[in-house]
Amino acid sequence: MSHHQILREVFGYEQFRGPQQAIVENMVSGQDALVLMPTGGGKSLCYQIPAIARHQAGQGVTIVVSPLIALMHDQVGALHEAGVSAAFLNSTLSSDESYQVEQRLLKGDITLLYAAPERLTTPRFLAQLDSLFERGQLSMFAIDEAHCVSQWGHDFRPEYRALTVLHERFPGVPRMALTATADALTRDDILERLQLEQAKAFVSSFDRPNIRYTIVEKRDSTLQLLRFIEREHAGEAGIVYCQSRRKVEDMAQTLVDAGIQALPYHAGLDNKVRQQNQDRFLREEGMVMVATIAFGMGIDKPDVRFVAHLDMPKNIEGYYQETGRAGRDGLPADAWMAYGLQDVVNQRRMIDESPAGEEFKQALRGKLDALLALAEATDCRRVRLLGYFGEASQPCGNCDNCLEAPAVWDGTDAARKLLSTIYRIQQMSGVSFGSGHVMDIVRGKTTEKTTQYGHQTLSTFGVGADFSELQLRGVLRQLIAMGALQVDAQAFNTLQLTAASRAVLRGEVPVLLREAAAESSRKPKRSARLGAVVKAPISLDSDGLLRYSALKAWRAEVARQHNLPAYVIFHDATLAAIAQRAPQSLDDLQGISGIGVKKLEAYAEEVLRVVTLA
Ligand code: ADP
Ligand code: ZN
Repeated sequence: MSHHQILREVFGYEQFRGPQQAIVENMVSGQDALVLMPTGGGKSLCYQIPAIARHQAGQGVTIVVSPLIALMHDQVGALHEAGVSAAFLNSTLSSDESYQVEQRLLKGDITLLYAAPERLTTPRFLAQLDSLFERGQLSMFAIDEAHCVSQWGHDFRPEYRALTVLHERFPGVPRMALTATADALTRDDILERLQLEQAKAFVSSFDRPNIRYTIVEKRDSTLQLLRFIEREHAGEAGIVYCQSRRKVEDMAQTLVDAGIQALPYHAGLDNKVRQQNQDRFLREEGMVMVATIAFGMGIDKPDVRFVAHLDMPKNIEGYYQETGRAGRDGLPADAWMAYGLQDVVNQRRMIDESPAGEEFKQALRGKLDALLALAEATDCRRVRLLGYFGEASQPCGNCDNCLEAPAVWDGTDAARKLLSTIYRIQQMSGVSFGSGHVMDIVRGKTTEKTTQYGHQTLSTFGVGADFSELQLRGVLRQLIAMGALQVDAQAFNTLQLTAASRAVLRGEVPVLLREAAAESSRKPKRSARLGAVVKAPISLDSDGLLRYSALKAWRAEVARQHNLPAYVIFHDATLAAIAQRAPQSLDDLQGISGIGVKKLEAYAEEVLRVVTLA
């Protein structure tokens, strides 16, 4: 079959996306490749289609290296649904099951074999690959999540380093490395560590146009989150990231109490519970996962409608990767973050207190600053995000700042008052204080502490009585983000002047801030106002909605029987397209995206029945 035929008949898609076709051709012709594509870009097809084509051409099996043991079962299940012969080898199989897979492998029955890196490099498995190689039945290696080879990435896996054996032991077998991690350092590391210097690089745009970025100032973050979910994503699947395990558990409980289906996930939970919660998130509809960043790597659930951050990540790479888990299906999704002064202080402190060398810490601070600048930005978030990864773009029209230009106020005066207060306290008392005390002085609030230290006598006491605490906090945050103030973690998070403070004090550098925006005035989506009614990814009339919910119920049942997530059977978008078309016959089902030959064969009859009955 031609590549297009495979795309259409096996996967049910009409067109390749972005560079997919070029990558497929490259692999079919036997060249190495490095594929950098954002999450949801469609990396899987880049190796699955060449694997199928090469297997059909008698070239044998493609080995897919993946660190994501928990997900292999579903990936293989999805291929089975599409009629492709696939299997996996990892520690979840019994030795008997492993043996069965090995037998099928040696017989040439398997088109795609998923294996964990530690399994791949065992003498036993390498010997089996030797035998395939000698018979010309080792078609290709696809190394997924290839950034795991780099210690610069956030998911360093030493086992990945051993993968150089593939190149040395099986010369001439084409290899491809795939990742969604965009930065240059990681990219170079992959090329070097996997000896892919000769590989052709395919770099996609990292833009995720369907994701809407919103960053709000933290007030009552729990309330803000509840409001966000209720207004925009009632009944939909999402991920809420928190920094600590404790907070994860509290927040999950809070959501449940508010009537939102939610589960916790963090590294401190029992393995079994964690796995169970992940399974439920993948399999059930409309589940919210409240998690630390331990959750999410390789989660390929396509219909995650929002990712919310209640605490700020460490850097833009982390923010981008975590938010990237929203909307892999290409339908509208939200990346929402609440951040505040405390986040800035905490992140600074974690860097300061880490045992790393000063140079490394400096690099971490630089990365944090870039994220702070993104959070404080009054212009297009996407332009800044993409710019960080070296990609130029135009204002997007789909971020908070583009949708509603934020009011900006000039905080220069407030900044100077704060800085000079910090300077004067230091002069008078010889020590520094934290943000609360500094703000009290500027606002002229007498407290036990101001009395104790005689700080009411400072000439700046009360000079900023007109400013609200919220405003001053915003200015402090901005000053820290600018590097004009520094938080000393070793000394109770006290604030200290830096070399950059002077220019601000002198009024040479303006301090512009977002107006502490009133709570989102964005109108709730129509469907959200209707409450718990079904939401479809495209607009459907009431009959269409009935068909859509009937199809969803049917899909849930099939998924349960097959022990697979619902989206592996059909995506929401596919069900919605069916509901819209109201097919009467097999013919009417032709050309709906996501229905390949095998699925048509397996499900057409039932789908037609469900649609007619609805
Ligand atoms: P990645 O691994 O890059 O995050 P996936 O391979 O999981 O992305 O693909 C994301 C989604 O896009 C999947 O649901 C997949 O079925 C869909 N997809 C990929 N390629 C195409 C295409 N050419 N046409 C339509 N849908 C596609
Ligand atoms: Zn924008």
